[in-house]
Amino acid sequence: MKKVDVLIVGQGLAGTWLSYWLHKSGVSFKLIDQINPDSASIRAAGLINPVTGRRLVTTWMIDELMPFAKNAYQEIGNFLEENFIDEISLIDFFPTVQMLQAFQKRYEEDPSYLIPGEDSKKYAEWFRYDLGWGAIHPCQLVNVEKLLKSWRIWLKENNCLVDCHFDPFKLKETGKKLEYSNMRASYIIFCDGKSSAQNPYFNKLPFALNKGEALLVEIKSLPADKVYKKGMSLVPCGENIFWLGSSYEWSFDNDLPSEKFRKNGEEWLNFNIKLPYAIQEHFASIRPATLERRPFVGFHPLNSRIGILNGLGTKGCSLAPYFGKQLADKITGKELIDPLVDISRFEKILTRI
Ligand SMILES: Cc1cc2nc3c(=O)[nH]c(=O)nc-3n(C[C@H](O)[C@H](O)[C@H](O)COP(=O)(O)OP(=O)(O)OC[C@H]3O[C@@H](n4cnc5c(N)ncnc54)[C@H](O)[C@@H]3O)c2cc1C
Repeated sequence: MKKVDVLIVGQGLAGTWLSYWLHKSGVSFKLIDQINPDSASIRAAGLINPVTGRRLVTTWMIDELMPFAKNAYQEIGNFLEENFIDEISLIDFFPTVQMLQAFQKRYEEDPSYLIPGEDSKKYAEWFRYDLGWGAIHPCQLVNVEKLLKSWRIWLKENNCLVDCHFDPFKLKETGKKLEYSNMRASYIIFCDGKSSAQNPYFNKLPFALNKGEALLVEIKSLPADKVYKKGMSLVPCGENIFWLGSSYEWSFDNDLPSEKFRKNGEEWLNFNIKLPYAIQEHFASIRPATLERRPFVGFHPLNSRIGILNGLGTKGCSLAPYFGKQLADKITGKELIDPLVDISRFEKILTRI
Protein backbone atom coordinates (compact mmCIF):
# COMPACT_ATOMS: atom_id res chain seq x y z
CA MET A 1 0.00 0.00 0.00
CA LYS A 2 1.42 3.41 -1.04
CA LYS A 3 0.79 6.05 1.62
CA VAL A 4 0.48 9.76 0.85
CA ASP A 5 -1.11 12.74 2.56
CA VAL A 6 -3.41 13.69 -0.32
CA LEU A 7 -4.93 12.03 -3.40
CA ILE A 8 -5.93 14.48 -6.13
CA VAL A 9 -8.26 13.51 -8.97
CA GLY A 10 -7.77 15.51 -12.18
CA GLN A 11 -4.91 17.50 -13.67
CA GLY A 12 -6.59 20.48 -15.26
CA LEU A 13 -5.84 23.94 -13.91
CA ALA A 14 -7.39 23.06 -10.54
CA GLY A 15 -5.37 19.87 -9.96
CA THR A 16 -2.19 21.42 -11.34
CA TRP A 17 -2.32 24.37 -8.97
CA LEU A 18 -3.44 22.41 -5.92
CA SER A 19 -0.62 19.89 -6.42
CA TYR A 20 1.96 22.62 -6.98
CA TRP A 21 1.05 24.40 -3.72
CA LEU A 22 0.97 21.12 -1.80
CA HIS A 23 4.40 20.23 -3.14
CA LYS A 24 5.71 23.61 -2.01
CA SER A 25 4.34 22.99 1.50
CA GLY A 26 6.03 19.59 1.66
CA VAL A 27 2.75 17.64 1.57
CA SER A 28 2.99 14.26 -0.20
CA PHE A 29 0.40 13.49 -2.89
CA LYS A 30 -0.52 11.31 -5.83
CA LEU A 31 -2.41 12.88 -8.71
CA ILE A 32 -4.74 10.56 -10.64
CA ASP A 33 -5.60 11.83 -14.11
CA GLN A 34 -6.76 10.37 -17.37
CA ILE A 35 -6.06 12.93 -20.08
CA ASN A 36 -9.06 14.29 -21.93
CA PRO A 37 -7.77 16.21 -24.98
CA ASP A 38 -10.97 18.28 -24.92
CA SER A 39 -10.86 19.16 -21.22
CA ALA A 40 -11.73 22.78 -20.42
CA SER A 41 -8.16 23.58 -19.38
CA ILE A 42 -6.56 22.16 -22.53
CA ARG A 43 -9.07 24.02 -24.73
CA ALA A 44 -9.04 27.34 -22.85
CA ALA A 45 -7.80 30.50 -24.56
CA GLY A 46 -5.82 31.28 -21.41
CA LEU A 47 -6.94 34.87 -21.06
CA ILE A 48 -7.30 36.73 -17.78
CA ASN A 49 -9.47 39.70 -18.70
CA PRO A 50 -10.20 42.17 -15.89
CA VAL A 51 -13.25 43.70 -17.60
CA THR A 52 -16.06 41.65 -19.12
CA GLY A 53 -19.64 41.70 -20.31
CA ARG A 54 -21.75 44.20 -22.18
CA ARG A 55 -21.40 46.78 -19.42
CA LEU A 56 -17.63 46.25 -19.07
CA VAL A 57 -17.91 45.30 -15.43
CA THR A 58 -14.71 44.73 -13.46
CA THR A 59 -14.64 40.97 -12.84
CA TRP A 60 -15.10 39.53 -9.37
CA MET A 61 -12.05 40.00 -7.07
CA ILE A 62 -9.85 40.84 -10.07
CA ASP A 63 -7.68 43.37 -8.20
CA GLU A 64 -6.58 40.52 -5.95
CA LEU A 65 -6.76 37.64 -8.41
CA MET A 66 -4.77 39.11 -11.30
CA PRO A 67 -1.59 40.13 -9.44
CA PHE A 68 -1.73 36.85 -7.50
CA ALA A 69 -2.04 34.87 -10.74
CA LYS A 70 0.78 36.81 -12.42
CA ASN A 71 3.16 36.02 -9.55
CA ALA A 72 2.00 32.42 -9.31
CA TYR A 73 2.48 31.63 -13.04
CA GLN A 74 5.87 33.34 -12.96
CA GLU A 75 6.81 31.33 -9.89
CA ILE A 76 5.85 27.95 -11.37
CA GLY A 77 7.58 29.09 -14.57
CA ASN A 78 10.81 29.67 -12.66
CA PHE A 79 10.39 26.29 -10.97
CA LEU A 80 9.93 24.46 -14.29
CA GLU A 81 12.29 26.76 -16.24
CA GLU A 82 9.62 27.84 -18.72
CA ASN A 83 7.49 30.94 -19.32
CA PHE A 84 3.74 30.45 -18.95
CA ILE A 85 2.36 34.01 -18.74
CA ASP A 86 2.61 37.28 -20.67
CA GLU A 87 0.99 40.65 -20.23
CA ILE A 88 -1.16 41.61 -23.20
CA SER A 89 -3.70 44.25 -24.30
CA LEU A 90 -7.12 43.39 -25.63
CA ILE A 91 -8.27 45.53 -28.55
CA ASP A 92 -12.05 45.83 -28.36
CA PHE A 93 -13.56 46.81 -31.73
CA PHE A 94 -17.01 48.09 -30.81
CA PRO A 95 -19.52 45.88 -32.62
CA THR A 96 -22.48 48.21 -31.92
CA VAL A 97 -23.13 51.84 -30.99
CA GLN A 98 -24.37 50.56 -27.60
CA MET A 99 -20.98 48.92 -26.92
CA LEU A 100 -19.13 52.11 -27.93
CA GLN A 101 -21.34 54.10 -25.53
CA ALA A 102 -20.88 51.50 -22.77
CA PHE A 103 -17.10 51.86 -23.11
CA GLN A 104 -17.28 55.68 -22.99
CA LYS A 105 -19.63 55.65 -19.99
CA ARG A 106 -17.52 53.15 -18.04
CA TYR A 107 -14.35 55.12 -18.85
CA GLU A 108 -15.90 58.37 -17.53
CA GLU A 109 -17.10 56.66 -14.33
CA ASP A 110 -14.05 54.49 -13.71
CA PRO A 111 -11.11 54.46 -16.13
CA SER A 112 -9.36 51.47 -14.52
CA TYR A 113 -8.24 48.85 -17.05
CA LEU A 114 -9.56 50.92 -20.02
CA ILE A 115 -7.60 52.91 -22.60
CA PRO A 116 -9.56 54.82 -25.28
CA GLY A 117 -8.39 54.14 -28.84
CA GLU A 118 -6.87 57.44 -30.01
CA ASP A 119 -6.06 56.51 -33.60
CA SER A 120 -9.27 55.01 -34.98
CA LYS A 121 -7.55 53.67 -38.15
CA LYS A 122 -4.68 51.94 -36.31
CA TYR A 123 -5.87 48.39 -37.05
CA ALA A 124 -7.60 49.10 -40.38
CA GLU A 125 -4.89 47.28 -42.33
CA TRP A 126 -6.03 43.97 -40.81
CA PHE A 127 -9.60 44.41 -39.57
CA ARG A 128 -12.91 45.82 -40.77
CA TYR A 129 -14.56 48.00 -38.14
CA ASP A 130 -16.65 51.19 -38.33
CA LEU A 131 -17.14 52.29 -34.74
CA GLY A 132 -13.56 52.59 -33.48
CA TRP A 133 -11.91 50.64 -30.69
CA GLY A 134 -10.79 50.83 -27.09
CA ALA A 135 -8.20 48.78 -25.26
CA ILE A 136 -8.49 46.72 -22.08
CA HIS A 137 -5.15 46.75 -20.31
CA PRO A 138 -3.46 44.96 -18.69
CA CYS A 139 -4.77 41.47 -19.42
CA GLN A 140 -2.70 38.33 -18.83
CA LEU A 141 -2.33 35.50 -21.32
CA VAL A 142 -1.51 32.06 -19.90
CA ASN A 143 -0.17 29.22 -22.03
CA VAL A 144 -2.30 26.62 -20.25
CA GLU A 145 -1.47 23.67 -22.50
CA LYS A 146 2.28 24.22 -22.05
CA LEU A 147 1.84 24.54 -18.27
CA LEU A 148 -0.20 21.34 -18.05
CA LYS A 149 2.29 19.39 -20.17
CA SER A 150 5.35 20.67 -18.27
CA TRP A 151 3.77 19.98 -14.88
CA ARG A 152 2.73 16.49 -16.03
CA ILE A 153 6.34 15.73 -16.94
CA TRP A 154 7.44 16.92 -13.48
CA LEU A 155 4.72 14.78 -11.85
CA LYS A 156 5.86 11.69 -13.79
CA GLU A 157 9.54 12.26 -13.04
CA ASN A 158 8.74 12.62 -9.34
CA ASN A 159 6.51 9.56 -9.24
CA CYS A 160 3.43 11.62 -8.34
CA LEU A 161 1.23 10.82 -11.36
CA VAL A 162 -1.15 7.88 -11.64
CA ASP A 163 -2.24 7.85 -15.27
CA CYS A 164 -5.68 6.17 -15.15
CA HIS A 165 -9.41 6.66 -14.78
CA PHE A 166 -10.60 7.16 -11.18
CA ASP A 167 -13.83 5.42 -10.21
CA PRO A 168 -15.34 7.27 -7.21
CA PHE A 169 -17.48 4.23 -6.34
CA LYS A 170 -14.29 2.30 -5.52
CA LEU A 171 -13.07 4.78 -2.91
CA LYS A 172 -13.05 3.15 0.54
CA GLU A 173 -13.51 5.24 3.68
CA THR A 174 -11.76 3.34 6.46
CA GLY A 175 -11.53 5.14 9.81
CA LYS A 176 -9.34 8.20 9.45
CA LYS A 177 -7.89 7.04 6.13
CA LEU A 178 -9.12 6.72 2.57
CA GLU A 179 -8.13 3.87 0.30
CA TYR A 180 -8.19 3.63 -3.46
CA SER A 181 -6.61 0.75 -5.37
CA ASN A 182 -3.17 0.31 -3.76
CA MET A 183 -3.09 3.85 -2.31
CA ARG A 184 -3.91 5.14 1.15
CA ALA A 185 -4.32 8.85 1.96
CA SER A 186 -5.58 11.20 4.64
CA TYR A 187 -7.43 13.41 2.13
CA ILE A 188 -8.84 13.17 -1.36
CA ILE A 189 -9.56 16.30 -3.40
CA PHE A 190 -11.67 16.17 -6.54
CA CYS A 191 -10.36 18.51 -9.25
CA ASP A 192 -12.20 16.56 -11.92
CA GLY A 193 -13.87 19.42 -13.82
CA LYS A 194 -17.19 18.55 -15.44
CA SER A 195 -17.03 14.97 -14.03
CA SER A 196 -17.83 16.31 -10.55
CA ALA A 197 -21.38 16.94 -11.71
CA GLN A 198 -21.74 13.11 -11.80
CA ASN A 199 -19.47 12.38 -8.85
CA PRO A 200 -21.49 10.70 -6.03
CA TYR A 201 -19.90 12.97 -3.38
CA PHE A 202 -20.53 16.28 -5.11
CA ASN A 203 -23.26 15.81 -7.72
CA LYS A 204 -25.74 17.70 -5.53
CA LEU A 205 -23.77 20.94 -5.86
CA PRO A 206 -25.44 23.44 -8.20
CA PHE A 207 -23.25 22.93 -11.26
CA ALA A 208 -24.40 24.61 -14.49
CA LEU A 209 -22.14 23.07 -17.11
CA ASN A 210 -21.54 25.33 -20.07
CA LYS A 211 -20.47 24.31 -23.57
CA GLY A 212 -17.91 26.38 -25.46
CA GLU A 213 -16.68 25.97 -29.03
CA ALA A 214 -13.68 27.56 -30.71
CA LEU A 215 -11.59 27.41 -33.88
CA LEU A 216 -7.84 27.40 -34.31
CA VAL A 217 -7.06 29.63 -37.28
CA GLU A 218 -3.82 30.29 -39.09
CA ILE A 219 -3.52 33.98 -39.99
CA LYS A 220 -0.14 34.93 -41.34
CA SER A 221 1.11 38.51 -40.85
CA LEU A 222 -1.38 39.45 -38.11
CA PRO A 223 0.72 40.67 -35.15
CA ALA A 224 0.40 38.22 -32.26
CA ASP A 225 1.04 40.75 -29.51
CA LYS A 226 -2.64 41.61 -28.90
CA VAL A 227 -5.98 39.94 -28.32
CA TYR A 228 -8.56 41.24 -30.82
CA LYS A 229 -12.23 41.24 -29.94
CA LYS A 230 -15.37 42.06 -31.87
CA GLY A 231 -18.08 39.98 -30.26
CA MET A 232 -15.82 36.91 -30.59
CA SER A 233 -12.17 37.02 -29.49
CA LEU A 234 -9.08 36.22 -31.52
CA VAL A 235 -6.36 35.18 -29.10
CA PRO A 236 -2.74 34.47 -30.16
CA CYS A 237 -1.76 30.91 -29.27
CA GLY A 238 1.24 29.87 -31.37
CA GLU A 239 3.19 30.88 -34.42
CA ASN A 240 0.64 32.51 -36.78
CA ILE A 241 -2.11 30.61 -34.94
CA PHE A 242 -5.07 32.28 -33.26
CA TRP A 243 -7.82 30.83 -31.09
CA LEU A 244 -11.23 32.18 -32.21
CA GLY A 245 -14.13 31.81 -29.83
CA SER A 246 -16.13 31.20 -28.03
CA SER A 247 -19.75 30.18 -27.69
CA TYR A 248 -21.47 29.98 -24.27
CA GLU A 249 -24.25 27.42 -24.28
CA TRP A 250 -26.17 26.63 -21.12
CA SER A 251 -28.40 24.10 -22.80
CA PHE A 252 -26.88 21.41 -25.01
CA ASP A 253 -27.43 17.73 -25.74
CA ASN A 254 -23.89 16.74 -26.76
CA ASP A 255 -20.31 17.92 -26.29
CA LEU A 256 -19.38 17.83 -29.97
CA PRO A 257 -18.36 20.68 -32.30
CA SER A 258 -21.39 21.95 -34.25
CA GLU A 259 -21.89 23.02 -37.85
CA LYS A 260 -23.63 26.14 -36.56
CA PHE A 261 -20.57 27.37 -34.69
CA ARG A 262 -18.20 26.64 -37.57
CA LYS A 263 -20.45 28.61 -39.92
CA ASN A 264 -20.60 31.55 -37.47
CA GLY A 265 -16.81 31.45 -37.11
CA GLU A 266 -16.27 31.47 -40.88
CA GLU A 267 -18.72 34.34 -41.30
CA TRP A 268 -16.94 36.24 -38.54
CA LEU A 269 -13.58 35.77 -40.23
CA ASN A 270 -14.89 36.69 -43.71
CA PHE A 271 -16.58 39.79 -42.39
CA ASN A 272 -13.95 41.11 -39.99
CA ILE A 273 -10.49 40.05 -41.21
CA LYS A 274 -8.79 41.50 -44.26
CA LEU A 275 -6.04 38.85 -44.33
CA PRO A 276 -6.12 35.31 -45.75
CA TYR A 277 -6.82 32.65 -43.14
CA ALA A 278 -6.99 28.86 -42.85
CA ILE A 279 -9.06 27.04 -40.24
CA GLN A 280 -6.92 24.30 -38.70
CA GLU A 281 -9.14 22.87 -35.98
CA HIS A 282 -12.63 23.13 -34.54
CA PHE A 283 -13.41 21.85 -31.06
CA ALA A 284 -15.91 21.92 -28.25
CA SER A 285 -15.38 21.64 -24.51
CA ILE A 286 -17.42 21.85 -21.32
CA ARG A 287 -16.78 24.50 -18.67
CA PRO A 288 -17.41 23.39 -15.09
CA ALA A 289 -19.55 26.44 -14.34
CA THR A 290 -21.88 26.97 -11.39
CA LEU A 291 -25.36 28.45 -11.02
CA GLU A 292 -24.21 31.30 -8.78
CA ARG A 293 -20.91 31.80 -10.69
CA ARG A 294 -18.68 31.18 -7.69
CA PRO A 295 -16.18 28.31 -7.31
CA PHE A 296 -16.69 25.23 -5.12
CA VAL A 297 -13.83 24.90 -2.63
CA GLY A 298 -13.55 22.91 0.60
CA PHE A 299 -14.57 19.70 2.32
CA HIS A 300 -17.69 17.58 2.36
CA PRO A 301 -19.83 18.20 5.49
CA LEU A 302 -20.27 14.42 5.97
CA ASN A 303 -16.57 13.58 5.59
CA SER A 304 -14.01 16.29 6.21
CA ARG A 305 -11.35 14.27 4.38
CA ILE A 306 -13.13 14.45 1.02
CA GLY A 307 -12.74 17.80 -0.72
CA ILE A 308 -13.25 19.65 -3.96
CA LEU A 309 -11.69 22.44 -6.03
CA ASN A 310 -14.04 23.04 -8.91
CA GLY A 311 -16.69 25.32 -10.41
CA LEU A 312 -14.04 27.55 -12.00
CA GLY A 313 -16.45 28.35 -14.85
CA THR A 314 -15.09 30.80 -17.40
CA LYS A 315 -12.23 31.99 -15.18
CA GLY A 316 -10.07 28.99 -14.36
CA CYS A 317 -6.80 30.80 -15.18
CA SER A 318 -7.22 33.35 -12.39
CA LEU A 319 -9.29 31.34 -9.89
CA ALA A 320 -7.26 28.09 -9.87
CA PRO A 321 -3.94 29.49 -8.53
CA TYR A 322 -5.66 31.62 -5.87
CA PHE A 323 -8.17 29.13 -4.51
CA GLY A 324 -5.79 26.20 -5.03
CA LYS A 325 -3.46 27.97 -2.59
CA GLN A 326 -6.29 28.56 -0.12
CA LEU A 327 -7.20 24.88 -0.17
CA ALA A 328 -3.57 23.77 0.18
CA ASP A 329 -3.18 26.16 3.13
CA LYS A 330 -6.37 24.78 4.69
CA ILE A 331 -4.95 21.24 4.42
CA THR A 332 -1.75 22.34 6.15
CA GLY A 333 -3.81 24.15 8.81
CA LYS A 334 -2.57 27.60 7.85
CA GLU A 335 -5.66 29.37 6.50
CA LEU A 336 -9.43 29.37 6.27
CA ILE A 337 -11.36 29.11 3.02
CA ASP A 338 -13.17 32.27 1.92
CA PRO A 339 -16.84 31.73 2.93
CA LEU A 340 -17.95 33.00 -0.51
CA VAL A 341 -16.43 29.91 -2.16
CA ASP A 342 -16.48 27.42 0.74
CA ILE A 343 -18.87 24.55 -0.05
CA SER A 344 -20.05 24.67 3.55
CA ARG A 345 -22.58 27.16 2.11
CA PHE A 346 -24.27 24.07 0.61
CA GLU A 347 -24.25 22.02 3.79
CA LYS A 348 -28.00 21.39 3.71
CA ILE A 349 -27.94 20.19 0.10
CA LEU A 350 -24.85 18.01 0.60
CA THR A 351 -26.20 16.29 3.73
CA ARG A 352 -29.64 15.60 2.26
CA ILE A 353 -30.07 11.86 1.70
C1 LIG B 1 -13.70 26.98 -24.92
C2 LIG B 1 -13.23 27.42 -23.56
C3 LIG B 1 -12.46 28.59 -23.43
C4 LIG B 1 -12.02 28.99 -22.17
N1 LIG B 1 -11.21 30.10 -22.08
C5 LIG B 1 -10.79 30.52 -20.85
C6 LIG B 1 -9.94 31.65 -20.73
O1 LIG B 1 -9.54 32.27 -21.73
N2 LIG B 1 -9.58 32.04 -19.48
C7 LIG B 1 -9.97 31.38 -18.35
O2 LIG B 1 -9.61 31.79 -17.24
N3 LIG B 1 -10.76 30.29 -18.44
C8 LIG B 1 -11.19 29.86 -19.66
N4 LIG B 1 -12.00 28.76 -19.76
C9 LIG B 1 -12.45 28.12 -18.52
C10 LIG B 1 -11.36 27.19 -18.00
O3 LIG B 1 -10.93 26.40 -19.04
C11 LIG B 1 -11.92 26.34 -16.84
O4 LIG B 1 -12.40 27.16 -15.80
C12 LIG B 1 -10.83 25.44 -16.25
O5 LIG B 1 -10.06 24.88 -17.24
C13 LIG B 1 -11.42 24.33 -15.39
O6 LIG B 1 -10.33 23.58 -14.92
P1 LIG B 1 -10.54 22.26 -14.07
O7 LIG B 1 -9.19 21.81 -13.66
O8 LIG B 1 -11.54 22.52 -12.98
O9 LIG B 1 -11.24 21.22 -15.04
P2 LIG B 1 -10.69 20.44 -16.34
O10 LIG B 1 -9.84 21.29 -17.16
O11 LIG B 1 -11.90 19.85 -16.99
O12 LIG B 1 -9.78 19.29 -15.76
C14 LIG B 1 -10.30 18.13 -15.18
C15 LIG B 1 -9.28 17.01 -15.35
O13 LIG B 1 -9.74 15.87 -14.61
C16 LIG B 1 -9.67 14.72 -15.41
N5 LIG B 1 -10.66 13.78 -14.92
C17 LIG B 1 -11.99 14.00 -14.75
N6 LIG B 1 -12.59 12.92 -14.23
C18 LIG B 1 -11.62 11.99 -14.07
C19 LIG B 1 -11.61 10.66 -13.57
N7 LIG B 1 -12.73 10.06 -13.12
N8 LIG B 1 -10.45 9.96 -13.56
C20 LIG B 1 -9.29 10.55 -14.01
N9 LIG B 1 -9.25 11.81 -14.47
C21 LIG B 1 -10.39 12.52 -14.51
C22 LIG B 1 -9.94 15.24 -16.82
O14 LIG B 1 -9.51 14.35 -17.82
C23 LIG B 1 -9.14 16.54 -16.79
O15 LIG B 1 -7.78 16.28 -17.08
C24 LIG B 1 -12.41 28.29 -21.01
C25 LIG B 1 -13.17 27.12 -21.15
C26 LIG B 1 -13.56 26.69 -22.40
C27 LIG B 1 -14.37 25.43 -22.53
